[in-house]
Amino acid sequence: MAITKRTRAIEALAPPEPDLDRALDLVVALMQIPGPSCREAAVADFVRETLRRAGVPAAAITTDRAHERSPAGGETGNLIVKLPGTVRGPRRLLMAHLDTVPICVGCRPVRRGDDIVSVNPASGLGADNRSGVAVVLTAAREILERKLPHPPLTLLFSVQEELGLFGTRFVDVKKLGGPQLAWNWDGRGPQRITRAATGGRTLDITLRGIASHAGGAPERGVSAIAMAGLAIHDLVTGGWHGEIVRGRHTGTCNLGIISGGEATNVVTDLVRLTGECRSDDRQFLDRIAREVERACGRAARSLRNHKGRRGSAEVVSDIEYEAFRLADDEPCVAVAAAAIRSLGMEPELLTTQSALDANWMNFHGIPTATLGAGQVAGHSVEERLDIGQFQQGCRVGLRLATGG
Ligand SMILES: [Zn+2]
Repeated sequence: MAITKRTRAIEALAPPEPDLDRALDLVVALMQIPGPSCREAAVADFVRETLRRAGVPAAAITTDRAHERSPAGGETGNLIVKLPGTVRGPRRLLMAHLDTVPICVGCRPVRRGDDIVSVNPASGLGADNRSGVAVVLTAAREILERKLPHPPLTLLFSVQEELGLFGTRFVDVKKLGGPQLAWNWDGRGPQRITRAATGGRTLDITLRGIASHAGGAPERGVSAIAMAGLAIHDLVTGGWHGEIVRGRHTGTCNLGIISGGEATNVVTDLVRLTGECRSDDRQFLDRIAREVERACGRAARSLRNHKGRRGSAEVVSDIEYEAFRLADDEPCVAVAAAAIRSLGMEPELLTTQSALDANWMNFHGIPTATLGAGQVAGHSVEERLDIGQFQQGCRVGLRLATGG
């Protein structure tokens, strides 16, 4: 009797373990549901149904109107679930994006050794990000079905991440209930904590010259192609294109698309350049965009036709995603690190160069770290799910959701 009692007492103290076989079945079921950006209704229904079966009351599940604000439109907004806590503590938010990249439509997931892959050679798997969705759902399901004690929780299943982070950009923050710690599952190793990300700006450049006959009246023309060449030369020699380093500030700038001109016998009057710049320092990011604008302005001013007339340059630059950096002692970082350590792994703190939903969550004032869930080679037909890593991710998820 004494032994049994003691065993029970130890079990009660031990952190809860999720049913890992069931978690694997869940992620496979999720990967079978097509759901590219803007067409997330079917996968959202599946998530809602899974939560309802686990005992979440219908009134606790809402959908916001992010898709109505998104420039891309879309079938549905973000799915948001709010659960009152059974123990006191700051509200925690667990999130994952619902959409996959288009290449994952047609995925037929099967187990191959220690991985799940798609047997359809033309499709990706969609582990990005159905493995993240499965981590969050598994945590919620375990908590509700087993009545595990937990602090107040918000679950956020976001839409349109792959398209440009529109779901979290336009999320209805008021519906989230003021979480103080948040985790976003979207990535590979379960020991990884992405706590910083670069921000990005778009660059849309229009260079207008003056058209004229290239053979008969070249002096009347101002070539927009020459203007583009001068501007690019200026940026490259000035150190504002490619990798950018100014003291302790770093960033990147890339003019990726150039178009213009219709005939060889015409002085070209219009060139468009499209590009992007990135930096984890918001002021430096703005500075890069300004330097691009200046270089284009100088190029426009330096060319004239025979009457002294010039062309013009216009640069439009929008924030595409916001940079953020969470300190080591920020609760969502420190608590995740402790949970990862409690599972025998060494946490890795990372900065990503790419954009994540966490960029917008942090911008909205919700400190959000991104964690791994076993995704390998996303956005390609080589994509696979590392089962061991995914299941570790589920264990991390449950510990964080129960206050571990
Ligand atoms: Zn993703």
